Amino acid sequence: MPRHPAATVKCRPQARASSPAAATSPYTGAPLADLPVSTPGDVEDAFARARAAQVGWAATTVADRKRIMLRFHDLVLQRQEEALDLMQAESGKTRRDAFLEVSDIAITARYYARSARRLLSPKRRKGAIPVLTHTTELHHPKGVVTVISPWNYPLSMAAGDALPALMAGNAVVQKPDTQTALTALWALDLMREAGLPADVWQMVVGRGSSIGDALMAGGDYMMFTGSTASGRRIARDAGERLIGASLELGGKNAMVVLADADIEKAAAGAVGACFPSAGQLCVSIERLYVADEIHDAFVTAFVERTRAMRLGAAYDFSMDMGSLTTPSQLETASSHVDDAVAKGATVLAGGKARPDLGPLFYEPTILADVTPDMTLFDRETFGPVVSIYRYRSVDEAVAMANATPYGLNGSVWGRNGAEARKVAGRLHVGTVTVNEAFAAAWGSIDAPMDGMGDSGLGRRHGADGLLKYTEAQTVAHQRLQGFTPPRGVKYEQWARILTRAFKTLRALGVR
Ligand code: NAP
Repeated sequence: MPRHPAATVKCRPQARASSPAAATSPYTGAPLADLPVSTPGDVEDAFARARAAQVGWAATTVADRKRIMLRFHDLVLQRQEEALDLMQAESGKTRRDAFLEVSDIAITARYYARSARRLLSPKRRKGAIPVLTHTTELHHPKGVVTVISPWNYPLSMAAGDALPALMAGNAVVQKPDTQTALTALWALDLMREAGLPADVWQMVVGRGSSIGDALMAGGDYMMFTGSTASGRRIARDAGERLIGASLELGGKNAMVVLADADIEKAAAGAVGACFPSAGQLCVSIERLYVADEIHDAFVTAFVERTRAMRLGAAYDFSMDMGSLTTPSQLETASSHVDDAVAKGATVLAGGKARPDLGPLFYEPTILADVTPDMTLFDRETFGPVVSIYRYRSVDEAVAMANATPYGLNGSVWGRNGAEARKVAGRLHVGTVTVNEAFAAAWGSIDAPMDGMGDSGLGRRHGADGLLKYTEAQTVAHQRLQGFTPPRGVKYEQWARILTRAFKTLRALGVR
């Protein structure tokens, strides 16, 4: 059992209100912590403090911020046991899944600490008139960034998007999900210990229905992660205010197993791709397309591995899959499977809740014979449920994988790496892993991550993941002669001179 998780968290959300919100343990259903709930007034207060603090924070050098970020990196690794306990207690995931979040935050902190100077430093750009126009691109922080994060990856989702916003010189006001706020507050606690001035990163806790308007009204940029339905509402509100928004939303991710795939490796990969955090991972796989030639052998291997998974609540690394996080996730997974089975789907593995293990456990489930009239055919389950389909040509597999309004993540398996990468490039998704479950793309932090279509707008990671939190500004200094004719030169004559100059630039190969 963990130490008392709440005891390890010193920070409290910005709140004056009295009636607390309760988080419950997914493993047992027992109360976990009472959290003070913020009112809309508290949120306004948090923005006012953040805005005041941001001025001083933006005036620090990138080197100062880098030192704090690397200290945070070291603290996260040193004190990871606290975070692992908290994440497991709040989300019900396995320690292995929780450790991936610690790894993710270490990678993110190191990357942005070490990349920010290059990304933020002023850049010389081609001027309007060669030599005579001195043009520079600058990046200024947006000001105060609002971050709204979900419950499924309590540390990755809470800290992962705040770190680049802070590195760019912004203050942050964040609403983590109430169910997983302790982990977010722990990260804030560590960041302050690492040297971040107190008011630069603020946390508020409460339901979107109560403090959502205040969160939207106060910030200069919105970073939202959650469902597509909520993302649409946030996008409408951001449009009304004419502020930018990055929206990382849902998916119905597909894996394509090519005819030449190594069957055992692909089957093990499918287990890793479909069931991390009990399928409550935005990039996890819910649709599997397998080449006719190897379909039966692959299904046998995949089903065998899935049935052998160890399920349970353990605060060590022994389990393969943990619990779902909320009763509504259990309800969705159960109802999707029950609906599919009632309409003729075949259960190859799992297919039922496991109250003997804990109130929210559900078996890793593989379904065959899934048809378009079944809810889970095209709707995201966000649980440990995958449908498996046979295909006869690569074109057919690509068409089926792309037949969804979502476009978040995909995976392709095949021995011929070049061919598999070609198929990957044909999938209409923001990221694809080849011969790996999902971590290869997510962990490639130098490259952009996240979705197309109904899976969202904007990207995290890479240059985009930091520069979206800035306003670009162009400063063009015109020296000696500009576009107006010099004194005494007629406009007709000036137009001829410029025309000759443009032709010369073209002939010289100037951009
Ligand atoms: P959700 O209902 O949209 O809620 C997500 C979080 O946003 C919750 O904490 C919620 O708080 C808050 N929220 C929603 N609308 C809000 C508003 N108008 N103002 C302020 N806060 C608001 O999503 P969910 O079902 O809990 O989360 C799972 C979804 O997230 C899945 O679809 C999954 O694919 C997606 N996801 C995507 C990514 C990605 O990177 N693309 C990553 C993780 C998860 P309240 O519940 O208190 O309102």
